[in-house]
Amino acid sequence: MIVAEEKDTLREKLKELFGYTTFRGNQEVVIKNILEGKNTFVIMPTGAGKSLCYQLPAMIKDGMAVVISPLIALMKNQVDQLNAYGINARFLNSTLSKSEITRLKKDCINGDVKLLYVAPESLNKEEYIEFLLKANVSFVAIDEAHCISEWGHDFRPEYRKIKTMIAQLGNMPVIALTATATPKVQIDIQKNLQMEDADIFLSSFNRKNLYYEVRPKKETKKQLIKFLKENKGKSGIIYCLSRKKVEEIAQLLNVNGFNAAPYHAGLDPDVRVRNQDNFLNEEVDIVVATIAFGMGIDKPDVRFVIHYDVPKSLEGYYQETGRAGRDGLEGICLMFYSHNDLSKLEKFNKDKPVQERENSRILLQEMEFYAESPICRRKQLLHYFGEEFKVENCGACDNCVHPRERFDGTESVKLVLQAVKETNERFGLSHLVNVIRGVDDEYVKSYGHEKLPVYGKGADEGPDFWKSVIRQTLIYQYLEKDIDSVGVLKIKEKGVKFLKKPETIELARDHDYTSEGEEEESIERAPIHSKAYDVKLFELLKAERKQIAKEKDLPPYVIFQDPSLEEMATTYPTSKEELASVNGVGMGKVQKFGKSFLELIKDYVEENEIETAADVVVKSSVNKSKIKIFIIQQVDRKVDLEEIADSKGITFEELLTEIENICYSGTKLNLDYYIDDMLDESKQEEIFEYFLNSETDSLDEALQDDDMADYSEEEIRLMRIKFLSEYAN
Ligand code: ADP
Ligand code: MG
Ligand code: ZN
Repeated sequence: MIVAEEKDTLREKLKELFGYTTFRGNQEVVIKNILEGKNTFVIMPTGAGKSLCYQLPAMIKDGMAVVISPLIALMKNQVDQLNAYGINARFLNSTLSKSEITRLKKDCINGDVKLLYVAPESLNKEEYIEFLLKANVSFVAIDEAHCISEWGHDFRPEYRKIKTMIAQLGNMPVIALTATATPKVQIDIQKNLQMEDADIFLSSFNRKNLYYEVRPKKETKKQLIKFLKENKGKSGIIYCLSRKKVEEIAQLLNVNGFNAAPYHAGLDPDVRVRNQDNFLNEEVDIVVATIAFGMGIDKPDVRFVIHYDVPKSLEGYYQETGRAGRDGLEGICLMFYSHNDLSKLEKFNKDKPVQERENSRILLQEMEFYAESPICRRKQLLHYFGEEFKVENCGACDNCVHPRERFDGTESVKLVLQAVKETNERFGLSHLVNVIRGVDDEYVKSYGHEKLPVYGKGADEGPDFWKSVIRQTLIYQYLEKDIDSVGVLKIKEKGVKFLKKPETIELARDHDYTSEGEEEESIERAPIHSKAYDVKLFELLKAERKQIAKEKDLPPYVIFQDPSLEEMATTYPTSKEELASVNGVGMGKVQKFGKSFLELIKDYVEENEIETAADVVVKSSVNKSKIKIFIIQQVDRKVDLEEIADSKGITFEELLTEIENICYSGTKLNLDYYIDDMLDESKQEEIFEYFLNSETDSLDEALQDDDMADYSEEEIRLMRIKFLSEYAN
């Protein structure tokens, strides 16, 4: 079984070098592809783990990998992180002195360097090409590859010359990586790099651990302070539209005892850099910023991103919220929304050329729909990026956690589809609404649409109602947008079927953010995950990390990331080997930073008389608690249970047993994302009812009960876990 062996060695390498136990998403297939020497194109959302896709092959292959990266700040950061793992990575850019460059070149040519980060502008220099020809380059990775395209949001002219440089180096495999994936940009990148043959690895854009919420912009400062009080000590970013607002909010927060700093283009460069560094080094908890902040910030433990003002586009919103929870743990994305903000943004566009103004208007309209829609936020965002999210309730957005009241929308959807059909699929939203409502307008008459059967059939509802219905039929895949003509709506196959044989469909009403005075019921966020680790020890470890980081002049997360500290606060490692087996640690980091952490844990364990793995003769208990925290983290991220079992090499049954143990020891686990996919609501209710009325939660009794005869053991066990989590804990 060569395949299995190869898989194992890759995993072993992953553990040995980076301390991680499992690959995420597409990482493993991408890495294999690169190792086979093929051109590779990786599209993964921010925070999904693109870097590892080229870092690991760079370590396995002979020679040195060249990584092209657009920002000098980002480069240093990545090199610091790799060095912390004991990997010899270096960077070449304009910040180095002549003698530093000479030394660097020598090390590269000697074969001491495994990864060399270069800025694109360096590549234009003849001397660097000559030097790279002497070094043994294994492959070229192009990070943030969308910078090549004028259609992307961050075009860099120097990126255009990359292909010429690669050609000069002789033909070698190229790997391009980006988080921005509009089809147009994709094609542009491939053309420019002449890698039309590349294997493309497109990942889902779903960020499972992010929680999305939109709140009305009322008493916003009060709401903000309340939120921050509940999340005190956590790292977060607050985005505002203007510099003035940034200053104002930063001040407000400082007056209220929070540790906040402003960041915007109007600040002195020194101050700006200092504020950013302080944020990375945990001297400052909160950065209040204009959108200029964040690009190139790889801080993995940003726990919340707040949009104090409405962003200009959903793309921007998604990029910015994407900066939360890169480490896969909690990430709350909160937006304050008002119509007023939209009007302000429209006014900004007043002086732009017509086409640009129109484009901006369409983007703002998407924003408006997103904010006001009653549909799952996740479903909407993914729909916007061309992806269908099929789960009915994501469990991690305001619209799913507090579903809006639903009504039977069958007739309304029918009218909408009829209107699209009768107008021959050639019109956009506003016109369709006018036809349905029977509006007497010149445009309608010029097409003779007042004579259509559907005309005026929906007169008893207002325009907002119909806009909302149309949006929902789009997201539920009855309609689609025409690719060729902007705004035109067409009927999809599901819509055709519906018109032939309508089935009941439930819709919800939009949020109403306009109602003056009366406050929409304030939404309390459901806690996303409960703390399964030793909070006191975790805080001590965090303080230690900060101390060490200061001494070494590195950001704390370069030392150890939060998930690793959480795991230490669960498994209490007291030997080097145990510490090395913590996810994200590895021997390299143990040697570099482990000593004081081990001492701290040992003292803590002694003081608190905690029984650790070392005390227990049966060694496997380490693995037990390790599996436990792994499962809790994976469930938090809504990873499929099969996948979790798979990556731990246990059966589904064994996994269920572990989960049951976790629940019985008092930790709540939310499995709704998995159960909702497997059992419909009425079936869930039936099993739930059984446990509510039963005198015992014994599985054997449930299996023998007549009412439960239709259900499999698996289903009953899953529902029992849900029941225990909701009632017993
Ligand atoms: P991207 O470049 O896609 O935005 P990064 O490469 O910066 O993302 O990775 C984001 C975070 O994910 C980092 O903190 C990294 O340590 C972590 N990470 C990457 N791969 C893994 C893995 N296999 N297991 C656990 N954490 C990982
Ligand atoms: Mg990256
Ligand atoms: Zn949702």
